[in-house]
Amino acid sequence: MNLEKIMIDLERKHPGEAEYLQAVREVLESIEEVVNTNPQFESAGIIERIIEPDRILTFKVPWVDDHGRVQVNLGYRVQFNNALGPYKGGLRFHPSVNLSILKFLGFEQIFKNSLTTLPIGGAKGGSDFDPKGKSDGEIMRFCQAFMLELWKMIGPEIDVPAGDIGVGGKEIGYLYGMYKKLVREHNGVLTGKGLNWGGSLIRPEATGFGAVYFAQEMLATKEMTFDGKTVCLSGFGNVAWGAALKVNELGGKVVTLSGPDGYVYDPDGISGEKILYMLELRASNQDIVKPYTYEFPGAQFHQGKRPWEVKCDVAIPCATQNELDKEDAMKLIHNGCICVAEGANMPSTPEAIEVFHEKKLLFAPGKAVNAGGVATSGLEMSQNAMKFNWPREEVDNRLHHIMQSIHATCVKHGTEEDGYINYVKGANVAGFLKVANAMLDQGIL
Ligand code: NDP
Repeated sequence: MNLEKIMIDLERKHPGEAEYLQAVREVLESIEEVVNTNPQFESAGIIERIIEPDRILTFKVPWVDDHGRVQVNLGYRVQFNNALGPYKGGLRFHPSVNLSILKFLGFEQIFKNSLTTLPIGGAKGGSDFDPKGKSDGEIMRFCQAFMLELWKMIGPEIDVPAGDIGVGGKEIGYLYGMYKKLVREHNGVLTGKGLNWGGSLIRPEATGFGAVYFAQEMLATKEMTFDGKTVCLSGFGNVAWGAALKVNELGGKVVTLSGPDGYVYDPDGISGEKILYMLELRASNQDIVKPYTYEFPGAQFHQGKRPWEVKCDVAIPCATQNELDKEDAMKLIHNGCICVAEGANMPSTPEAIEVFHEKKLLFAPGKAVNAGGVATSGLEMSQNAMKFNWPREEVDNRLHHIMQSIHATCVKHGTEEDGYINYVKGANVAGFLKVANAMLDQGIL
């Protein structure tokens, strides 16, 4: 494989799509060896085919705000690859959303979904709509308008969207309501649904739980556990709150949370009522990080800073892409951090990952660590298909088992000669092989 040529071609076709190009390069670099030793992939053009989405739908979303003004947002669905099963991947509502970000997320989703062992392909979608500060009525009208276009492209055997940044249970409810009305069927097409109308137990906390189960396996390779460990988290959304709950349950202490404007450091630990308080603020659609320090005066707010300067044993970035750079990586290592598990998608910059690898840190990428979210969405699809709900323990046990199996797969494909586990390589190679072999079997499409 001529990686540089492929990247030059891709940059020429998609100029300025920085996040997408970054994600493709990261994957190609780590699968180069496996592609070069399997000439059948090259002759079937697997690489050229896997790096381009199957199709992209772009649409306008007109809606009316509470003042009667017409607003227009952009909507997207990127269907990347369905070699393993129906397209599957979340919807992100955030002002930063653009095609580059959705293509990076959709591309990553192919390999993540492959790692889960479930029959699901990769996709992503969303809008530049910002739910923050909007009333419930505005969010509902926006979601309904968004679905008026999206429904044509999705279906339980075609494409099954879920939540992501800015899309939680409330948004999924409004989206599903409109979809159901349009298709006149209750077919469970979205995941992350309410528990009393087709949702799965554990789904809301699954990504965070799964991330901590994965980090637990990473620590176990060094004969360590979470017990007594200090943990830095970033963000406080769907992923971070589940992670905070599970770290506490396993005896660790969470000392940071963050938002776009800074982070909170609470040396006493963020647990119990503090987590519940954050959830209440979140549900009311407010800025949540700063008010924490008014409610719990032992905590400090650090304006404009990231939590990676705080001394910790384990760091779990759970906010957004490129939120941990080289300088942050060096600070973490300097302060004695032993493990970085990415709860978010691509939170570490390539330079930060280089530092982690150079220093032989336990470091694992989002596509492995946060795969518990989509895996539990897969379990929600299975339950919907069976018209049956598994109890909490059953879903949690399956999630735990899936995360252990993803970890074992990464170890199998990522262990280097000196015994260091390169989780980036392990996850990319394992995820890629399964999809590439399926594409070979299915012919040139
Ligand atoms: P949420 O919107 O629920 O939470 C994101 C959190 O990060 C919020 O607390 C947000 O603060 C904060 N945040 C946003 N931008 C920044 C920033 N620049 N610096 C610091 N904090 C920031 O999203 P999710 O928890 O769903 O997703 C988080 C990450 O995990 C994303 O990368 C997503 O793709 C990934 N992921 C999510 C899955 C899921 O199941 N939800 C599954 C797999 C991956 P505020 O609300 O104040 O803006």
